[in-house]
Amino acid sequence: MESKEKILEKIKSLREKIEYHNYRYYVLDNPEISDYEYDLLMKELEKLENENPEFKTPDSPTQRIGEEPLKKFENFTHPFKMYSLANAMNEGEFIQFLTRVYKDLDTKNISFSCEPKFDGLAVELIYKNGMLEIASTRGNGEVGEVITQNIKTIKSIPLKINKTNIPEELIVYGEVLMYKKDFLELNKEREENEEPLFANPRNAAAGSLRQLDPKITARRKLRFFAYGLKSRTENNFSNSHYERLDYLKELGFPVSDERKKLSTKEDIINYHRELENSRENLPYEIKVDDIYLQEILGYDAKTPKWAIAWKFKPAKAQTLLKDVEFSVGRQGTITPTAIFEPVFLAGAKISRATLHNFDEVKRLDLHYDDTIVVERSGEVIPKVIEVIKEKRHPDAKPVVPPEKCPVCGTQLFKSSDKVALRCINSSCPAIVKGSLKHFVSRNAFNIEGLGEELIERFYEEGYIKNFADIFKLKEKRQNLINLDRFGEKSINNLLTSIENSKKIEYFRFIYSLGIPYVGEETARLLADNFSPIEKLYNITKESLLDIYGIGDTVAESIYQYFKNDANKNIPIT
Ligand code: ZN
Repeated sequence: MESKEKILEKIKSLREKIEYHNYRYYVLDNPEISDYEYDLLMKELEKLENENPEFKTPDSPTQRIGEEPLKKFENFTHPFKMYSLANAMNEGEFIQFLTRVYKDLDTKNISFSCEPKFDGLAVELIYKNGMLEIASTRGNGEVGEVITQNIKTIKSIPLKINKTNIPEELIVYGEVLMYKKDFLELNKEREENEEPLFANPRNAAAGSLRQLDPKITARRKLRFFAYGLKSRTENNFSNSHYERLDYLKELGFPVSDERKKLSTKEDIINYHRELENSRENLPYEIKVDDIYLQEILGYDAKTPKWAIAWKFKPAKAQTLLKDVEFSVGRQGTITPTAIFEPVFLAGAKISRATLHNFDEVKRLDLHYDDTIVVERSGEVIPKVIEVIKEKRHPDAKPVVPPEKCPVCGTQLFKSSDKVALRCINSSCPAIVKGSLKHFVSRNAFNIEGLGEELIERFYEEGYIKNFADIFKLKEKRQNLINLDRFGEKSINNLLTSIENSKKIEYFRFIYSLGIPYVGEETARLLADNFSPIEKLYNITKESLLDIYGIGDTVAESIYQYFKNDANKNIPIT
């Protein structure tokens, strides 16, 4: 047996490695190892800590998740009031702000720190001797809520600052947000599970951070950017806001790479134009850079007089509706999508927008060839907001729900209590392919190399018709190699990643099955309460309803799924 010293050394080195890879992945956006290798490091550390509980420490990466749900959030009084910024809606309002600053300071010789304004939730992180001690939301600016255990799940936030000579107390201010791609992915999953959608990334970030159960927060992909620094024990920080952010970056906190220090009105206006045309189209904030001058300018009741958030107008355009496409989801739900003449909005060419469901089509009173108004503000998905009825041709035909499945031709079904229109043919190719894509997806079996296109191809070629077929592909190795575009090497890699995917966590396995209404959160509840899987095969509705977090509709859906004998075979062979 290894000596305790050796074990401790090993634990420390694993922790450092993991935090290093967190930094590469979440702060630099430049990972060095695969998710799989990362998971192996975590597993090894967890195992060592469980075998040697005396070596567990609060700053270990294993402590980022796994704390028990809270009953409620505690209040927290901020050491310094947290202000929110006043907005400038256009150039005129920005110039008003600038004129007032020049007048109040009696000079035009002032530097401004300009940075993108991330649209998320403002938080305060208090570090004592380098250790994250308490994290809270802004709340009303004076009193917020303690969300330390949720903040710990965000891997770009250091639990411990790995630098010497840091002040006894550091108060870091920043924004917790969700990237657009993660927001779209989350909403896609929620749509498939018929859960309510988040309106925009900001709502998704706020909803995820204010979860009593940190396990839910941990699964949402939240990011953090620092934008401010204070302390009650240290007076020697730089007097420049810009340099304070440099310092935060040195300490390992993510700060925006797009920030700039600018001095003239023209430069600031140009920078705003540049960002307006950039991909993400983020509004940005402008602060007097000198902290001493900030104090002279002071505060209004809610906002500092030395800073302003200059917003972009949401981009809107009129265009012509060309068609409405009806797609079939893996649960059979029909989703209408508007197809229109391409328009440029907020830096992107857009030619389609989801209409979500037929109630929305009705609300818009959508007709073919209508002139429509499409809006896209910054990070938000494009949306058809209205129809210009005056421009409608008198013979225009209204958009009506299809009667038959656009893929398999089966008569569509509408339950009396629901908005959704669905195909109930379980062998509808759209449903089968959708289920297979879900099964191999990142949060399910996560089979690297088996993407949506390959599923389509293998389905069409007849190699994969159900989950079990995926694990039988190895028997068809030679046939696969002979398919054009594939070589021996790529097929070998694919078969290896299929074999590797069998080492799957139980809740992910349940999630992969694609049971209606069972997203990752419900899958975890099922895994925690019904293990091994045989317990699910004989499940009763009553035992499901006993679980906090599972309601009537979900219980019924799970019960119906496992009642079907065809669903009782574990597809792994
Ligand atoms: Zn169908």
